[in-house]
Amino acid sequence: MGLSERQRVVLGRLAEVAVPADDFPSAADVGAVGFVDQVVTVDRPDWLVRVERALDVAGDEPDLDAVLADPDGAWLVRLIAQGFYAGDGHTHEGQPEAWAMVGWQADKAGDWQTVQTELTITPRSELVDRYDCIVVGSGAGGGAAAQVLAESGRSVLVVETGRYPTTESLSRDHLRNPRSTAGLPALTDPDPFGRPRVAVIDDVPRQVLPSDGGWSNNAFTVGGGTRVYGAQAWRFVPRDFAMASTYGVPSGSALSDWPITYDDLAPYYTLAEQRFGVSGGGVDPWHEPRTLPMPPMPRTGPADRLAAAADRLGWGTLDVPLLINSVDYQGRSGCVRCGQCVGFACPVEAKSGTHNTALPAALATGLCTLVTETTAERLVTDASGRVTGVGLVADDGYGGLWRRNVDCGEVVIAAGATETPRLLLNSAHDREPDGLGNNQDQVGRHLQAHVYAGAVGLFDDELADLIGPGVSIATCDFRHGNDGIVGGGMLANEFVPTPAATYDYLTGAGLIPRAGAAGKQAMRREARRMLRVVGPIQEVTSAESRVRVDRGVVDRFGNPVVTISGSIHPEDVRAQTFMSEKAREWLAEAGAVRTAVGGPGTTRQASGGQHQAGTCRMGDDPARSVTDPFGRVWGHDNVRIADASVHVTNGGVNPVLTVLAGSLRTSQHLVSTR
Ligand SMILES: Cc1cc2nc3c(=O)[nH]c(=O)nc-3n(C[C@H](O)[C@H](O)[C@H](O)COP(=O)(O)OP(=O)(O)OC[C@H]3O[C@@H](n4cnc5c(N)ncnc54)[C@H](O)[C@@H]3O)c2cc1C
Ligand code: SF4
Repeated sequence: MGLSERQRVVLGRLAEVAVPADDFPSAADVGAVGFVDQVVTVDRPDWLVRVERALDVAGDEPDLDAVLADPDGAWLVRLIAQGFYAGDGHTHEGQPEAWAMVGWQADKAGDWQTVQTELTITPRSELVDRYDCIVVGSGAGGGAAAQVLAESGRSVLVVETGRYPTTESLSRDHLRNPRSTAGLPALTDPDPFGRPRVAVIDDVPRQVLPSDGGWSNNAFTVGGGTRVYGAQAWRFVPRDFAMASTYGVPSGSALSDWPITYDDLAPYYTLAEQRFGVSGGGVDPWHEPRTLPMPPMPRTGPADRLAAAADRLGWGTLDVPLLINSVDYQGRSGCVRCGQCVGFACPVEAKSGTHNTALPAALATGLCTLVTETTAERLVTDASGRVTGVGLVADDGYGGLWRRNVDCGEVVIAAGATETPRLLLNSAHDREPDGLGNNQDQVGRHLQAHVYAGAVGLFDDELADLIGPGVSIATCDFRHGNDGIVGGGMLANEFVPTPAATYDYLTGAGLIPRAGAAGKQAMRREARRMLRVVGPIQEVTSAESRVRVDRGVVDRFGNPVVTISGSIHPEDVRAQTFMSEKAREWLAEAGAVRTAVGGPGTTRQASGGQHQAGTCRMGDDPARSVTDPFGRVWGHDNVRIADASVHVTNGGVNPVLTVLAGSLRTSQHLVSTR
């Protein structure tokens, strides 16, 4: 059920004052009523009550200040503004009016033909009874493993719960994508309503949906996160593998060294860089120089300015390493520098993902079978507790469920750092009643990701050039060696933001009014004058930040869902504050006339989301870890984990290159030892 006629009238009036008409139309003129109606009827029916409450606050003659003073009112005004800047509505010369207003266009760099890698997806009805290996998940870890296993001559079944949406469908919507904070379901979300989770935030457990922040989403699709990610391709550095030895173990944390060193992983970093294709240049002072297969992309205008500022500050910089072709590479085109990179599928497949690299290579062997929209719901064990196969479940297409056990010799789990522990916990059997591999209560602990540091700067001139991907220059000077700080992080300029994201950044930083004529004019003036410098900081992990399963809440297949609880450590907040001030200093030196840094928000919420890791940490001691140093689940020599779950710590940089390298190491070990 949607809004009543009267509510639609009030909504229209509110939209008139939230984003009023001037030289450009109002939010109401470009369809705010239809947009919000779609949100409460299609995207988020559970929001209807909140929208109705906000409309009650607004009343027949909405007073903007009064509406903004009310939490529900302010929330609805933000939604209306996000819809306006996302361009749901009228167009002007082929672009939404709001985009023309702020001088934004997706295809600034020119025309191109959208392409998509074709993958052979096998119908479930054609699955055979047994495969040598079953790989759960086709993302970074799963895709990389599938290629190694299939190329070794094994028969491989890759089970992916997501679909393989078209590039076109993943390239358009500025609100319904995994980068947006609007809370609307994206095509890469797993089943928007059938897979709730329980998030414990500020000690209060609540059910959340995949498009809610607390759900801790990444991307559930063929390619996993790599289909839509930003593709930053950082190596962890030697000290990242020895955090406890370097810094000690802060009180209340479970900081620990990895059981392997940087040198153990270095050859696999090199292999991942070659195999998946990394461009970049310059030297990270914390690891030895690396030779990348592609040169960096030409620096953008903002990057030149930040480079000069860093020089003046005495800071080192480098071109951000990217899993993006700067030139044609291995049959895929070079980047055409569109403005919609992070959160979107690449229109020319220049951005490397497992869907256009490892999976096609695995399928080309003729030994790999890819099945989609199918979920591994449990590992099947025999009477001795040995894993003999995987239980699969899916919709049967006729309103019922399809279920089947498929046998295998080996299982490689790469379902991401929240679903991998869930699969183990939901695979309890007589000998492991608390979950497979969980007799020591380690599965699901040490959930971590990245608290982000950063600052927003406003400049006098319109320096944002909208040349994609946008992220171009970084400093790694502060990854370690910061007085009084455990670890540190990397800072880089931001991807080209969409207008809706720009609105969020500017209003979130308090640099422009949230609404009204002044807000709209400020967006118009400042959108192209804004630069952000941001980066992840290395988290100090704790055993109490964890993934469990909630036996009282099940998904639509009847399986217990994930519960996420915990908090970030005080050291994380200290590091974030330190790095945010560095970001502010960099922007100010580059000429920003106003700057703002963000705060940490609540600390009583576990860190998760797109950089989630750590929930099945590897180690030397079965009492304190879930897998051995080669990803084998303790007690199960034929079950390996090959995703971000095994990370002991998660570095002060984006993690995917470490996931890829780790998976290559784990799967090559499997191939060479079994
Ligand atoms: C918008 C965005 C931007 C990002 N930018 C960057 C970046 O610039 N640099 C970087 O380093 N990282 C980035 N990341 C994060 C990066 O994508 C992840 O670190 C990486 O993909 C993690 O790899 P993984 O193998 O652990 O999990 P994933 O890649 O998430 O793969 C897990 C796969 O398992 C599937 N799955 C889950 N449960 C089941 C089940 N039970 N049965 C079958 N299949 C299942 C999922 O659908 C998914 O495809 C970004 C992510 C997003 C979404
Ligand atoms: S900016 Fe990103 S999405 Fe756009 S063409 Fe380049 S790699 Fe592809």
